[in-house]
Amino acid sequence: MDFKLSEEQELIRASAREFALEYIEPIAGELDEKSLYPYEVFAKLGELGMMGISYPAEYGGGGQSFITSMLVTEEIARACPATGFLHGYSYGLVGHPIITFANEEQKKKWLPGLASGKFVGAFSLTEPGAGTDVGAATTTAVKDGDVYILNGAKTFITNAIMADVFVAFAFTNKDAGPKGMSAFLIPKGTPGLVLGEHFDKMGIRASQTSEVLFKDCAVPADCLLGKEGDGFRIAMSALDAGRIGMAATTTVIAQACLDESVRYSKGRVQFKKPISSQQAIQWFIADMSTDIDAARFLYLYAAWVKDQGKSFSLAASKAKLFCSECAVKHTSKAVQIQGGYGYIKGSKAERLYRDAKITEIGEGTSEAQRMIIAGAALR
Ligand SMILES: Cc1cc2nc3c(=O)[nH]c(=O)nc-3n(C[C@H](O)[C@H](O)[C@H](O)COP(=O)(O)OP(=O)(O)OC[C@H]3O[C@@H](n4cnc5c(N)ncnc54)[C@H](O)[C@@H]3O)c2cc1C
Repeated sequence: MDFKLSEEQELIRASAREFALEYIEPIAGELDEKSLYPYEVFAKLGELGMMGISYPAEYGGGGQSFITSMLVTEEIARACPATGFLHGYSYGLVGHPIITFANEEQKKKWLPGLASGKFVGAFSLTEPGAGTDVGAATTTAVKDGDVYILNGAKTFITNAIMADVFVAFAFTNKDAGPKGMSAFLIPKGTPGLVLGEHFDKMGIRASQTSEVLFKDCAVPADCLLGKEGDGFRIAMSALDAGRIGMAATTTVIAQACLDESVRYSKGRVQFKKPISSQQAIQWFIADMSTDIDAARFLYLYAAWVKDQGKSFSLAASKAKLFCSECAVKHTSKAVQIQGGYGYIKGSKAERLYRDAKITEIGEGTSEAQRMIIAGAALR
């Protein structure tokens, strides 16, 4: 067993950290406050090859391992969790399903743009009546000559307002259950693809979240991703990859809490000594530090399993469950350590506290992860 990163990985991680400290951290508060999408950051990350770092080299990517991509996600998320979340999302929920299931023509059409950060993608699965229960979706795709006509509504779709491509899911045969769901790569501007409500959120406010409506949306048949009926499998595989990105993001949210807690507790004097000298505070810090190591090992293990070409679904669920609950627990402790100052808008602990919560909900709730993990244990 070797826990050491390669020299190349260390170098990539150091450049990602340098970039994040210079270009992301200084604007993280403003992105949150004004709910701004960091267009320029993603353009620069694209130029540096960090958007497509683990995309295959023949499609403009860096050809690096998934672990390396996750190290970059971590560094970005350390500076701004919302931006890190979007970095992980871009590969996991958009790049991964295209790399894994698309035909050659589709790969050539979408991957170089996604790898260079010029294209943005939106994974469009959730519906108003179908969240955890994906099979309850009602969006349909009816074949009519050389097009599919899509009708239905998707909700909570990240990136929808700026997406160039929608990885979207609809039933081509509702009677067949999950095996009747199909996936599509739908270009922006396709007639009948319209945006609905745009949502204001408590956290990860730099990400943009909206409804996507399909109103007699005529999608050319060559936009089908995989075969008819592959949709459920493609959606689950994308979510598995996305969950590892989410786990990387949450690990570093907890890390940011530790950094903040150490800094603040050493400087805050009560009863004539720094609060860091109180055992109660030290125990918070010890628990954070231990959980962060456990979280990092779990998510890197899941990424490693994926890099081995093995089934990584269970490892991804375990990592996502543990890491997100770790982040939620420790952001609360970080606010606690800062007392009233941690509760005031503008404090980093307050922003991290709000950012952490989505990680127990998005890309499958903690309860959904427990269903997957218990299902595997009981089989
Ligand atoms: C900011 C944000 C961004 C998002 N981005 C995207 C995106 O880009 N693309 C996309 O497709 N979706 C996206 N989502 C949707 C997200 O994946 C769903 O919100 C999530 O899967 C939960 O679905 P739901 O909100 O409908 O909750 P529900 O499924 O209604 O669940 C409500 C509660 O019931 C629990 N529950 C449900 N079923 C069970 C059960 N069988 N056993 C035990 N407990 C259960 C859940 O765990 C949860 O606690 C996003 C959501 C948010 C908030």
